[in-house]
Amino acid sequence: MANSKEQIDLSTIEMLNVGVVGHIDHGKTTLLSKLTGKFADTHSEELKRGITIKLGYADKILEKNNKKRYISFVDCPGHEMLMATMLSGAALIDAAILVIAANEGIKPQTKEHLIALQAKNISKILIVQNKIDLITKEQAIESYKTIKQFVKGTIAENAPIIPISAQQEINIEKINDFLMEVETPKRDISSKPEFIIARSFDINRPGTKIKDLHGGVIAGILKKGTLNVGDEIEIKPGISEKQANQLIYKTIKTKIVSIYRGSYAIEKATPGGSLAFETELDNILTKTDSLSGCIAGIPNTLPEINDKIKIKYSLFPEVMGMSEKLKTEDLKPTEMIMLSVNTTTTVGKVQKIKNNEVEFSLKIPIVPIKGDTVGLARNINAHWRLIGFGEIL
Ligand code: GDP
Ligand code: MG
Repeated sequence: MANSKEQIDLSTIEMLNVGVVGHIDHGKTTLLSKLTGKFADTHSEELKRGITIKLGYADKILEKNNKKRYISFVDCPGHEMLMATMLSGAALIDAAILVIAANEGIKPQTKEHLIALQAKNISKILIVQNKIDLITKEQAIESYKTIKQFVKGTIAENAPIIPISAQQEINIEKINDFLMEVETPKRDISSKPEFIIARSFDINRPGTKIKDLHGGVIAGILKKGTLNVGDEIEIKPGISEKQANQLIYKTIKTKIVSIYRGSYAIEKATPGGSLAFETELDNILTKTDSLSGCIAGIPNTLPEINDKIKIKYSLFPEVMGMSEKLKTEDLKPTEMIMLSVNTTTTVGKVQKIKNNEVEFSLKIPIVPIKGDTVGLARNINAHWRLIGFGEIL
């Protein structure tokens, strides 16, 4: 794919998936560009099958004291995307960098992102106090104290706090130290593979000769299992077709032609970081993210498409994203809730609630995988606001 000729053995390297979170304009994208030399802010704007979550990934092989690690950063376009991405399980996040601009301090999204980290039990957190070039030493100490107070009693209570300037590249090396030292989780490489498609596209330049054409590409994250070049895969729900006024989904089968992790061509894909698979599919099927929201796996191993799901849920004490504080009311029978599951969203009608378990009937069916997480949003004054999260039973 994309001009990359470099071959590297990534099968033994340690991988770390890092979410970069924090209030808008506090410097997340700037920091990412300094950490990776790349800009993660490029996304296609298609809205397909409801709101599709686009992931901004930037990867880097970090090397220190003869040790190498493959670091994959997630930067999402916009705050709500980020929340939905974290709560829906659309991204693999092992550790997080919480960016707080020292000249502005704790802002609503700083709080919400910390709540989301807490909800997902992401405890490996580095707090960076950014933009220290704009403040005095005294102000920096004040801001440090405020941050300490803010994280008290939370999952980030013992997180290190490092003063930095992303723009002036001050203390970036300290962040790299954290990224090299933080413990990486054990990956499940032997279960049946589950590949979550976030993007799909056509990589051919216009005018490419037929014999040089690449097949359609799907990109996203492998939650578990291993996929190899040459493997047969199925993609579900697949393509939709209108039949007698009803949308029918057709599973797609294809073969993996090549695998890319960042710009590296690899033979064997294991969980961690973002991956792109070139397939034998006609580009008509993959262009403009038409397969985002789908799941790929070995044929006949993925769950059936379902328009009903049951989840175990918990609600936040307060609704997210509101300027005023609003207590979260419990789910009500027949209420419509927006559900984010991996990289797809669907609206569900509450059918039955018992204890902390709820059954939904879905407008758009999904491929429900047990244990996957679901973000829950309620429509409040014409906005979908995140109110909690759940786990598919
Ligand atoms: P994001 O919304 O969190 O991704 O923030 P951006 O990375 O887009 O940064 C927002 C603005 O803050 C941009 O104009 C950056 O140039 C600026 N910025 C980021 N880091 C620093 C810093 O360390 N010092 C100063 N002075 N400005 C910064
Ligand atoms: Mg940004």
